[in-house]
Amino acid sequence: MRSFDISADAYKEAVDLMPGGVNSPVRAFKSVGMTPIFMEQGKGSKITDIDGNKYIDYVLSWGPLILGHADERVVSKLKEAAEKGTSFGAPTILENKLAQLVIDRVPSIEMLRMVNSGTEATMSALRLARGYTGRDKILKFEGNYHGHGDSLLIKAGSGVATLGLPDSPGVPESIAKNTITVPYNDTESVRYAFDQYGDDIAAVIVEPVSGNMGVVPPVDDFLQNLRRITEDNGTLLIFDEVMTGFRVGYNCAQGHFGVTPDLTCLGKVIGGGLPVGAYGGKREIMENIAPSGSIYQAGTLSGNPLAMTAGYETLSQLDESSYKVINSKVDQLVEGFKQAAIDFSIPLHINRAGSMVGVFFTNEPVINFETAQKSNLDYFAQYYRGMIEEGVFLPPSQFEGLFLSTAHTDEDIDKTIQAVRNVFSKIEK
Ligand code: PMP
Repeated sequence: MRSFDISADAYKEAVDLMPGGVNSPVRAFKSVGMTPIFMEQGKGSKITDIDGNKYIDYVLSWGPLILGHADERVVSKLKEAAEKGTSFGAPTILENKLAQLVIDRVPSIEMLRMVNSGTEATMSALRLARGYTGRDKILKFEGNYHGHGDSLLIKAGSGVATLGLPDSPGVPESIAKNTITVPYNDTESVRYAFDQYGDDIAAVIVEPVSGNMGVVPPVDDFLQNLRRITEDNGTLLIFDEVMTGFRVGYNCAQGHFGVTPDLTCLGKVIGGGLPVGAYGGKREIMENIAPSGSIYQAGTLSGNPLAMTAGYETLSQLDESSYKVINSKVDQLVEGFKQAAIDFSIPLHINRAGSMVGVFFTNEPVINFETAQKSNLDYFAQYYRGMIEEGVFLPPSQFEGLFLSTAHTDEDIDKTIQAVRNVFSKIEK
């Protein structure tokens, strides 16, 4: 048995210092009946906790680390950048470099603004959509998570779903009433909402592959239908690609599915493990942001040299073949899971999009939040704790996906599959 005594002590100290002992709810390990594991260091696909336990890491900081931990080039460029100063509050060439690279690869983005998190990106994109259209309402999907902005914390996925929380107290009713929510992958419900409120809806915001109720890809034509309906109604379509951006493919989910939104939100991978978000889109819309336009949004540390360096050095190491390599590892892993489920009679449904993988303990297809909730949470908790013992670090929630990086090796995949088999063989039914 692994020992977690030092983590347990650190947690005891932390609960007096921070709400729940953590700086983000998904780190609490509550839904799997554990307390947080404190990490010390990571290298490539491996991560080590403060008790010295080593794991193959499929959390990757919840997605950003597509090259694995402490990639050599990223770290060396970060050192160089830090020596020159960490923030100036004035523009740097590094911002141009990352912006150009993002514009080159993301079909919808002609111009963008850097911010510091995914939450800031979606909040700012919504303000822009409302300011641009002169409308107040937005439409989002149940189980999609877009950060913790007031308008978006309604029927949200991720930690909100993991902790089984209702819509958050503190979000004023006057704001919540402008958010319409409908089931993911359900075009008919979107049409119905537009029949009722079409002229008032500023934006539809969607995760083009949902990653915050576990991984749920779009069904056929769902994204194309959203594109058509929004266009017909003078509504902006916003793809929240904070998770899918540069992970689902070289040209993000929009390139993969061939649907171009009006605005795109980015985060995670574009910061290479440092705090970055961005929102961008058509020039004609983006130019409404201050100072070229009147819609206000700003940031003391936005575009800071360290974050720009980590993002640029990460993205510039990825080419189309990097995704092929990661995806073939995912193929092997998914096959291993499926075979283990058959061999040990475990109900299992796997969704995947690129290197985002959703493992659900149900035999039914998972296409939305309702079907995701059919997953057996007791099996998930047993599997989770078993995998920790086997040295595999996974997101501690049924409603999160796991991620792979270019640093994951065939040996990692083989070890993980063996771990899954060991754990599935012991699940108490
Ligand atoms: N949008 C999506 C799709 C996300 O997955 C997340 C975070 N998991 C966010 C927005 C919020 O990003 P951040 O946590 O950086 O604020």
